[in-house]
Amino acid sequence: MPFRSCEAKQAHNKAYHQAHVERSTIRHWERAREIKEECLAHYGDGKLVCVHCGFSDIRALSIDHIEGNGSEHRRLNHLKRGAPFYRWLLKRGYPGGYQTLCMNCQYIKRYTNGESGGIRLTSPGRVRW
Ligand SMILES: [Zn+2]
Repeated sequence: MPFRSCEAKQAHNKAYHQAHVERSTIRHWERAREIKEECLAHYGDGKLVCVHCGFSDIRALSIDHIEGNGSEHRRLNHLKRGAPFYRWLLKRGYPGGYQTLCMNCQYIKRYTNGESGGIRLTSPGRVRW
């Protein structure tokens, strides 16, 4: 549909969005979930599971930075946790250095490696899973 002006096009787009906001919102969240599942499966060796313990409830699965520099990585790339990070990984063709872990294993790894200000329980050197 040709528009007489930029303002006419903007008004049309705004009206369309308002008329379809519920459908757009649902589609947005469905796509976000699809991307999360694709990402977790990629870094879970093809399965939606924690690569360390096999836990499979997607609500508690997330991407782990294998080298343990997640906070710094997100800060340098201006990323937020969750959906923006999954999209970032998808757009870059799933780069290496990540794995799917459940939150239990993530916290145990962080604690063991002293990454969260916790006391290191093992000898110096990073514990890799
Ligand atoms: Zn686990």
